[in-house]
Amino acid sequence: MILILLGPPGAGKGTQAARLVAERGLTQLSTGDMLRETIASASPLGKKIKAIVDAGKLVDDALVLEMIRNRLTSDECQNGAILDGYPRNLTQAKDLDGMLGALGKSIAHVIQIKVDESALTDRITSRVQTADTARSDDTLEVLQKRLAVYHAETAPLIPYYSQRGVMRVVDGMQPIAAVAAAIDAVLDKS
Ligand code: AMP
Repeated sequence: MILILLGPPGAGKGTQAARLVAERGLTQLSTGDMLRETIASASPLGKKIKAIVDAGKLVDDALVLEMIRNRLTSDECQNGAILDGYPRNLTQAKDLDGMLGALGKSIAHVIQIKVDESALTDRITSRVQTADTARSDDTLEVLQKRLAVYHAETAPLIPYYSQRGVMRVVDGMQPIAAVAAAIDAVLDKS
């Protein structure tokens, strides 16, 4: 099963993906995590990516497509995958369609975690204060930029997937357990 989690930064995609890994044996493919690993390697590519990520912009579509392709075609994704943070724009969505078509796979659900954006600021602020989960792009300034990128580039995926009948919406303002239950209800219905 291929599942896409869609939502602005701080919506809880990573939290819900981690739970689905533990409870359903799916593999989480987070392009953000993959990019942070490359940044940690301090290679020339890592340095280039860090500058883009720290500015809240999107990295090159071809690069993230290759990252996703490598992981999706490996044995770890035999039971299915949760795409967390991918696709992030229409080019990536079309790239993904092409790749899945070639692999004979398809998207089961796109789950949009809908949140009130004023709450995102509070969530990111508390993530900044929690030292062990803080990221170098977790600042209010970068968050504003990432939200603007989300609206301009990622939000158009909502009508794109709605028209294909795979879009499901859950209320991300509920407590984590209730969001989890709403996602489970979507998955158990299919
Ligand atoms: P995330 O951990 O998903 O919030 O991603 C952190 C940052 O990594 C984003 O703000 C982007 O700079 C970059 N990034 C993550 N996923 C993608 C993607 N699919 N396409 C382009 N850039 C991405």
